[in-house]
Amino acid sequence: MPLYKTDALILRTYKLGEADRIVVFLTRDRGKKRGVANGARRPRSRFAGALEPLTRVGVSYYEREHRDLVRLSYAESQCSPLLASRPDALTHVGYFAELMDEWAQEGDPNERLYRLGTSTLEALAAGVPTAPVARYFEYWLLRLQGVYPPHIVCHRCGTALDAEATGANLDADGHRFTCPDCAGQTMGEDARGVTLSPDALAFLAASGRVPPTSLAGVPLSARVDRELEVVHRSLMRLHLEKELRSTRVLRDLRR
Ligand SMILES: [Zn+2]
Repeated sequence: MPLYKTDALILRTYKLGEADRIVVFLTRDRGKKRGVANGARRPRSRFAGALEPLTRVGVSYYEREHRDLVRLSYAESQCSPLLASRPDALTHVGYFAELMDEWAQEGDPNERLYRLGTSTLEALAAGVPTAPVARYFEYWLLRLQGVYPPHIVCHRCGTALDAEATGANLDADGHRFTCPDCAGQTMGEDARGVTLSPDALAFLAASGRVPPTSLAGVPLSARVDRELEVVHRSLMRLHLEKELRSTRVLRDLRR
């Protein structure tokens, strides 16, 4: 029964039996794992404080041949989202963890996804405002999955989408951005597609260059935040083909 030691991000947990938990976690080196934490629901458990979603932990676990579930031997918190101690940051933590859980494949190493999760956690813990961190996270998650449409030039005519100060339209199937002229030709002038303003494209360009801990210096107005959120939600809906539980929770909070 081999024992593995690594760093990992907690994605979610659920109850098992009287006192245990099943823990879903993304390891730095071996992809997503699912394991049993014996006694995790007991008051003085050795897992106390380490199993909140998006906690970065040092873990060790046993893997058994022909078993899907591993057995967690210990999990020790290295960086906790509770450090952010802002209500809006804490409500988003579950959203980030759920998205990573949806997209991470079991046993398929994905260090870039792991690094996106840890840098997102570090930015929240360092006090970077939640909105830019959320839009950055969505942008990179969709990019890492290869489903973020190119947003530098118009797919049809090649016009630079930011240079013209005109913005970009996302087409209905979510695969291409076009300039407003081309979008008008394909959808009719009165088509009200999903659009990004030049300011939103500038935020994406900055997100391609800086780590999330530097986002406090990148401008993001409430209007641009909303534009990016709408585009990202529609891309996620198209590619996940369902609405996430935590998306509904966030929308209800906004009301
Ligand atoms: Zn065009």
